This record gives sequence, C-alpha cells and structure tokens, in this order.
Amino acid sequence: MTTVYIISAPSGSGKSTLVNEARQIVPELDFSISYTTRAPRGNEVNGREYFFVSRSRFEHMIANDDFLEYADVFGNYYGTAKHFLQQAEQSGHDLLLDIDVQGASQIKHKIPDAVSIFILPPSRTELESRLRDRAQDSEAVIQRRLATATREIENYLKYDYILVNDRLEESVQALQSILLAERLKHAGVREERSVEDDRIVARADRCRLNNVRERLQPILASFATTAAR
Ligand code: ADP
Ligand code: 5GP
Repeated sequence: MTTVYIISAPSGSGKSTLVNEARQIVPELDFSISYTTRAPRGNEVNGREYFFVSRSRFEHMIANDDFLEYADVFGNYYGTAKHFLQQAEQSGHDLLLDIDVQGASQIKHKIPDAVSIFILPPSRTELESRLRDRAQDSEAVIQRRLATATREIENYLKYDYILVNDRLEESVQALQSILLAERLKHAGVREERSVEDDRIVARADRCRLNNVRERLQPILASFATTAAR
C-alpha cells in the first residue's frame, strides 16, 4: 500500500534540506518532482528539483487532466503529476510530495489517508536570517516570502504533524520517525514491534499537534506580532 506524505512549510524553513536528508535514510520512498512555470534558480536542474515548463505547456497538462493537484504560488503554476503516484503504487513505494498549503488541501480531499507534515521555523527572526543566508532571493522576494509565511502558518492546524525545525539533526530524526511510524501502522500486529519501533512511534508522536501546542505559542506570536505592525 502506498502512503502519500505531504510536506509543507513557509519558504526558508528548511523543508528541502530535511526532505533531502530523509530521502537518503528512508528506503522505498519516492519523491514527486513537481512541474512549475517559474524559472530555475541557482544550481537547479530541469528534472531534478522541478520540471521547468512554459505556461502553455502547463495549461495543456491541466486540460489533459495530468495533475493530481496544482496551484498558483507566488504568481507561478506548480503541480504534482499523476504519473508519480501511479509509479509509486506500481513499485509498492511510498510517495513524498513537497507542496504548498493549497496543494495539501487538494490532496487531502482526494486521498484522505495522506499524511501531512507542516514544518515551522523556530521564529520569524530565524526564518528571515535563513532566507538571507541562503542568498537566493532579492530583498523584495524575501519580504514577500515573509508576508506569505505569516499567512501559511495560519494553516498549521490542518496538518497531522508539526515539526519545528530548530536543530537540524533532531529535525531529520523527527521526520524520519514520522515516515517510519506511519509505515509501522500498516505493518501488522502490536506484538511484532521492537523496542526501537516503539521509540520511533514515540518520537513521531511528539510532533502531534497536542504535544507541540505549548512549543508553538512563541513561534506563532513572533509572526503575529510582525503581521500586526
Ligand atoms: P525551504 O526548502 O524550506 O525553502 P531550505 O531547505 O532551502 O528551505 O533552507 C533554507 C536555509 O536554511 C538553507 O540555507 C539551509 O541550509 C538552512 N537551514 C535548514 N535547516 C536549518 C536548521 N535546522 N538550522 C539552521 N539552518 C538551517
Ligand atoms: P519554490 O519556488 O521556493 O521552490 O516553491 C514555492 C512553493 O511552491 C513551496 O511552498 C513549494 O512547496 C510549493 N510547491 C512546489 N511544488 C508544488 C506542487 O507541485 N504543487 C503545489 N501546490 N505547490 C508546490
């Protein structure tokens, strides 16, 4: 059975970093490469980070019903092609989607068993400095990403897991635990679980909304304060 994992995060939170790490340590996990109409940035390669296509090609794909979901993000189209899910199902792998909050709600609607994970930065200040240190965007784009982050963060309640990406090593371990804990759910009876399996489930559970509520308060406040200014 293929489990679909959705990962969303405000830009700059460290989602790509975490996803790249997780893909190296979790076996049988396919990654959907999205189609986008935005131009490649930095060292991005067509077919690796994204399939970079023209607006007319994208619109042709929409008309052809090629997308599981698509959305307009920052003025460009981004979409998940259906064929990635079909491939994962054929090979019995799970599928990871790195998509925004609009795409996440479309997928949840179509695939209610999809598991969603929202990644948050430890604070707005830290998000801003990660965006600056990444040195990929102009000042105007950074300001737009920060404003969008404030809106995106309001959607955290819709997600199954919330991962605060503070210390990278711990975050990688938490993400790995979430992916593996969901697999354990489908793996069979309770008695077959090892002590390590129980540890994985416990680590994943720490990212459940009820267990992170307190930790979230100062993070949400750091965004709300700036939004209100
Ligand atoms: P996103 O994919 O969410 O836009 P990136 O993965 O590109 O974000 O990360 C944004 C920047 O923050 C990168 O320069 C990355 O190296 C850095 N980064 C990621 N995770 C952490 C972390 N836990 N602590 C400090 N810096 C981080
Ligand atoms: P970026 O341009 O920084 O790579 O991505 C911008 C945003 O688009 C991110 O929030 C990313 O998750 C989202 N995104 C990337 N691919 C898709 C996709 O296929 N569908 C949707 N809905 N969002 C996507």
